[in-house]
Amino acid sequence: GGKDAAKESKVLRAGTEPTFAPFEFQEKDSKDFTGFDMDLIRAIGKQMGRDVEIKNMGFDALIPAINSGNIDVVASGMSITEERKKAVTFSDPYYTSGLAIIVRNDENNIKSLKDLEGKTISVQIGTTGADKAASVPGAKVKTFNTNAEVFLELNNKNADAVIIDRPVGAYFLTKEGKGQDKIVGETMDAEPYGFAVKKDSKLAGEINKALGELKKNGEYDKIYKKWFGE
Ligand code: GLN
Repeated sequence: GGKDAAKESKVLRAGTEPTFAPFEFQEKDSKDFTGFDMDLIRAIGKQMGRDVEIKNMGFDALIPAINSGNIDVVASGMSITEERKKAVTFSDPYYTSGLAIIVRNDENNIKSLKDLEGKTISVQIGTTGADKAASVPGAKVKTFNTNAEVFLELNNKNADAVIIDRPVGAYFLTKEGKGQDKIVGETMDAEPYGFAVKKDSKLAGEINKALGELKKNGEYDKIYKKWFGE
């Protein structure tokens, strides 16, 4: 009935690609979504008085899902770019990231983007890392749906390097990548993450208001500390 419909419309449907720890991921044997973005979007929903439902989808399916109305918001470590701004509206930035190069520990010749010329680079489809890899002269770029596959390609020696958001690479090196891989070079570019919503939707303003409140009341800092320490 009408009452159920009203309640239903209050659910904030957030799309995410959950192989991006520590921003969004699933613990082994768990269907729950966890991570910095997950905590933050749930806190934002709570602040807005809306339940949050997380939907698992491919990274390259997120913006189409906003435009088709299948989800209300993207919470997926999505960098705010000029290109994406043509298709969606972003909230205020909530985290500043950047790209890094990951290689196997036994790799001694790759130290910067320049050294990737003519090499094979493994990246996630539709990401800024994929764009960066495509800009390297002569590089062979292999794209995958999940970052699990991206890293597997490196460690199976079917790629020379991975280009991925630095905090995600750094986290991987403390987990599955431990003792296997390393980060080389400086962080490339500053990439602010934003929550994406339908173009010109008033939801962006509501999210910004909630985010501002969470920054004021210490909740944002609490979530930040939980995932990144200081
Ligand atoms: N921040 C990168 C981008 O927006 C990667 C995001 C991701 O893989 N979840 O393209």
